[in-house]
Amino acid sequence: MNIAVIGAGVSGLTTAVVLAERGVDVTLYDAPRAHMASPAAAAIWFLYDLEGDIERAEAWALRTYDVLAGLASVVGSGVSMIECRVFGMPEIPAWTQRCDFRVIDGGFAVTVPLMDTAIYLQYMRERFLGTFREVAPFASLSEVPAEHDVIINCSGFGARALVGDTRLHPHRGQVVLTERQPSLPYAVVYEDTLTYVIPRSVDCVLGGTNDVSDNVHPNDETTRDIRRRCAPIVHESAPTLGVKVGLRPFREGGVCLEADRTSDARRVIHNYGHGGSGFTVSWGCAEAVAQLLPELGGRGSWSHGSQS
Ligand SMILES: Cc1cc2nc3c(=O)[nH]c(=O)nc-3n(C[C@H](O)[C@H](O)[C@H](O)COP(=O)(O)OP(=O)(O)OC[C@H]3O[C@@H](n4cnc5c(N)ncnc54)[C@H](O)[C@@H]3O)c2cc1C
Repeated sequence: MNIAVIGAGVSGLTTAVVLAERGVDVTLYDAPRAHMASPAAAAIWFLYDLEGDIERAEAWALRTYDVLAGLASVVGSGVSMIECRVFGMPEIPAWTQRCDFRVIDGGFAVTVPLMDTAIYLQYMRERFLGTFREVAPFASLSEVPAEHDVIINCSGFGARALVGDTRLHPHRGQVVLTERQPSLPYAVVYEDTLTYVIPRSVDCVLGGTNDVSDNVHPNDETTRDIRRRCAPIVHESAPTLGVKVGLRPFREGGVCLEADRTSDARRVIHNYGHGGSGFTVSWGCAEAVAQLLPELGGRGSWSHGSQS
């Protein structure tokens, strides 16, 4: 078995690491694009902006929680555990049961993994011991080199063009980076207004937004609005160090994680459409991909028809 993974965002990196660490020959292909979602993420363990089978998503998230909690003690992984104070949620979600949990005035507090995005993505890139190739975007899966008999499609919002999935929509998110906040030991999330402050080891993320748009350029008015909304927690005089935009790969009906075939009859496993939860479900989804492969003891079944 010789596998190609398409996309080096958090989904593709995690899937490539899981498969390579099970002894499979893996090549990770990526067409670097300014609008990939992963580098813009906060990225805190929190199920958000994800449709479909919630029990399936929670199972992926809880598995991911366990792996990330383990990584929190690995120096250089960029993962830590943080208290997250959540307000404005109509009810307490079931996934909080796994975390240290307490009710606070107006909301609840949970202890969850936090990924320092740039450090974590670099850690995953270095942990992947297979081959990495930068390419121009594949126009279809049949363009993937013929040496690969299995293709894992982790192309995020790119899957809309790559496999023609019109259920995918770009949920644009903009965040503002400001300086480290050593006096703020916890994250704050107002779910109803999508306002959040997430202190990290090197900076602090202020957010956020969620609009259906594929505009990847920062909007100055939005930056001012985010600064205004977060001002009660981080004063507007703290310098703006950067502004990031990413397109959450939101998919009607939920994540696409299923077996398929290319038009030249090679096996495909899709793993895209994680919306605002790609980091939160990453390890659970990557292991679910492995569990489809009969060569790894999995139970996936492929029809003989060609679809992508
Ligand atoms: C502002 C913001 C905040 C967020 N906060 C959180 C959070 O706190 N927690 C959380 O869990 N999630 C969060 N998310 C969501 C999370 O970032 C996404 O769900 C996740 O990054 C999706 O990862 P992915 O690897 O599937 O896609 P991407 O990161 O978009 O990666 C896809 C990759 O595939 C490549 N590609 C696409 N098409 C092709 C092609 N045809 N050929 C070759 N390569 C291709 C792209 O170039 C890209 O590198 C946030 C997102 C945003 C925008």
